[in-house]
Amino acid sequence: MLQLPHGFQISAGNTAVAALLARPDTHILLFAGQKLIQRSEGPPALTRHDYGALLDGAAWHACEPLGTWQGRPWLAIGLDALPSTGAFPSSGTTSSNHATPATSTPAIGSAPSAGTSTTDIPASGTHGTAASLPPGWEAAGLRSWFGRLPDGMAAIAMQASQLLEWQRTHRWCGACGVPTQRLTHERAVQCPRCGLRSYPRISPAMMVLITRGRQLLLASNVSFPEGRYSALAGFLEAGESVEAALHREVAEEVGLQVHDLRYFGSQSWPFPHALMLAFTAEWLAGDISVDPAELRDARWFEPDALPDLPPANVSISQALVEATARRLVKRSRCAGE
Ligand SMILES: [Zn+2]
Repeated sequence: MLQLPHGFQISAGNTAVAALLARPDTHILLFAGQKLIQRSEGPPALTRHDYGALLDGAAWHACEPLGTWQGRPWLAIGLDALPSTGAFPSSGTTSSNHATPATSTPAIGSAPSAGTSTTDIPASGTHGTAASLPPGWEAAGLRSWFGRLPDGMAAIAMQASQLLEWQRTHRWCGACGVPTQRLTHERAVQCPRCGLRSYPRISPAMMVLITRGRQLLLASNVSFPEGRYSALAGFLEAGESVEAALHREVAEEVGLQVHDLRYFGSQSWPFPHALMLAFTAEWLAGDISVDPAELRDARWFEPDALPDLPPANVSISQALVEATARRLVKRSRCAGE
């Protein structure tokens, strides 16, 4: 699953933006709204030099330091609109000599890391989010870049997307409506009139994979492509614990009772600002009763006969299902079943 890469040091302040922008080795992630602007093939555009005049005349709403990785600072820039066609470098590969060495940033479209199947990654344009840009460039929602960008870069782009969306939606005070100011010593914006301070929003959500003996329960959400299944998931309500949310969602969506909750792991998921907390739980009582407003189907699967799952190597959902399936198979072998 995509996570910020090992050794990535998150920056919280905002004191050195001008200096970071001037550095030739600063890695830049450029967004217009929620669309990431990148070369559609060849080495990713990463530095000021790679973007050429693209950064010069465009109107920004945010320039947000992200952190440092492998000695290079990363910076997210949010544009209000797609730049004019003439602002783009004429070819997508004019400045490959300035791109990062291939050892740390494989070319876009290169072989994905182990476990990723390119057939699982929707091609750009199939989401209806790709915009018309000069040849060699593309602006598209993050999901359509998964599997085409190096994993580390894709994970940093998820962080960038979330922070830019926070900046975009907090330009004015939510209480009194005057323009906010970005604080320099921490990641927050503050209202100069009433003092209201706003931090990047993080919305906890839980995911649970229910097991029953050797079987596991997977559901097909109404928003999924036909035939795709995943673990159950839902957002927390205000005032609710993660455990209470888990029991509530399981009861609402499939009408079951569970026990023996076990924490599996978590993942930041910037669509637009979720933090997914993943669990397993064991069936306790009840027969599956699907909520048709949420789910197309839900059923028990054998661990060695799983259906189509979300794209590999991207979300925690796949990691949760595969790790649990391996555990169930191993347990049943040990039990001599
Ligand atoms: Zn205010």
